[in-house]
Amino acid sequence: MAMQIDPDVCTACGDCEVECPTVSITPKNGVYAINPKTCDECVDEGEPRCVPVCPVDCISKAA
Ligand code: SF4
Ligand code: SF4
Repeated sequence: MAMQIDPDVCTACGDCEVECPTVSITPKNGVYAINPKTCDECVDEGEPRCVPVCPVDCISKAA
């Protein structure tokens, strides 16, 4: 249960990083990545906070 960032699309803008209540989004290899061990999909809020703030729509549910 976690979201993931497509590294081929992420522009490393950092907009999602500041939105994450669990501090699961960090810089990695020149883009950003989500730690699947700590991302809880913002379950308490009903929807992932990172998804709507991403200008290139590259955050999705991990398979
Ligand atoms: S879904 Fe929520 S907890 Fe997971 S990375 Fe996005 S903002 Fe952080
Ligand atoms: S908001 Fe989107 S493009 Fe910006 S760092 Fe996050 S995943 Fe990458």
